[in-house]
Amino acid sequence: MAFHQGMISLVVPAYNEEENLPVLVHRLMAVMKQYESYEILIVDDGSSDQTRYVLRQLSQEYPVVRFISFSRNFGHQMALRAGYDNARGAAVICLDADLQHPPELIPALIDKWRQGFEVVYTVRRPDPKLSWFKRTTSKYFYRILRRVSNLEIEDGAADFRLLDRKVVDTIKQFKEADLFLRGAISWVGFRQCRILYEPAARYAGRSKYSFRKMMQLAAMGITSFSTRPLYLSVTLGFCMSLFAILFGAEAIYEHYFTDETVSGWTTLVLLLVLIGGVQFIMIGIIGVYLGKTFVEVKGRPAYIIGDTSEIEETVTPWQSPIEEEIFYSPLT
Ligand code: UDP
Ligand code: MG
Repeated sequence: MAFHQGMISLVVPAYNEEENLPVLVHRLMAVMKQYESYEILIVDDGSSDQTRYVLRQLSQEYPVVRFISFSRNFGHQMALRAGYDNARGAAVICLDADLQHPPELIPALIDKWRQGFEVVYTVRRPDPKLSWFKRTTSKYFYRILRRVSNLEIEDGAADFRLLDRKVVDTIKQFKEADLFLRGAISWVGFRQCRILYEPAARYAGRSKYSFRKMMQLAAMGITSFSTRPLYLSVTLGFCMSLFAILFGAEAIYEHYFTDETVSGWTTLVLLLVLIGGVQFIMIGIIGVYLGKTFVEVKGRPAYIIGDTSEIEETVTPWQSPIEEEIFYSPLT
């Protein structure tokens, strides 16, 4: 097997993580000092707190720290993507800013990479500290995703992983607007290896994944790796037609061979409503895919960079998260 060496990039997406970042950077530097060359690339996903200011200071203090700051919140997946696009290392490791992904595991990932694995992903052990809701929704999400998409993604596979330069360059070629990275990385293949880990507690702040963001991620995961929901309407259409034929045959039989009176008003209304409902669902599914096509056709940039450590800040550091309003009145 190949013997991998070279610079290691650590990519950290951060959304309102001002309290976590200084601690994270120090823990990462402590772990990484055994390696000759590394960089810490932090992607500020349009935070509304002091994250960007904290990053500017950290990058001035420590040359290994670089940052990219989005012009607004584009979401975790886009932050990771910007990290892959801008990392310079021969291996790129992504981890969360909240220290739930223990930095002390990084040497284990690097060891596996040096043994020749091109993707080293981690799976978190079932964690009783995690809320029941999060555990159950995550379990069913992966189950449905595996069913509809033919992707082998394990329960609890997180965005804490190492990718070799080859894999990063492959991922960079994905041009789709909403890229579901966990799916894409499972899809590209390469020599993959898995490490189990025990998640730590969030160091500070609370989860930045609202219920809405989780649902968006789930919908994106399913619709970007499968067209199978579209076939649902065909299957249902066949089932319903078959049902209608049988139903019709029975009605004809009753009409000609028995004296039973037709008393099916309720059945009729129920069937109408049911069929109407199913049609709306199917139109909705088609609409979702059509909408995705529309977004792809527009070809907008996936994210917008507002500031980076590569450009020197010429204006005074942005201090306050509160926007100032300026009133101008020509009469006074
Ligand atoms: N994150 C981000 N953009 C978002 C939401 C989250 O960059 O819109 C980052 C966040 O700062 C953290 C990582 O994604 O580093 C995972 O988020 P979080 O820890 O809140 O999720 P959880 O661990 O609760 O699933
Ligand atoms: Mg977290």
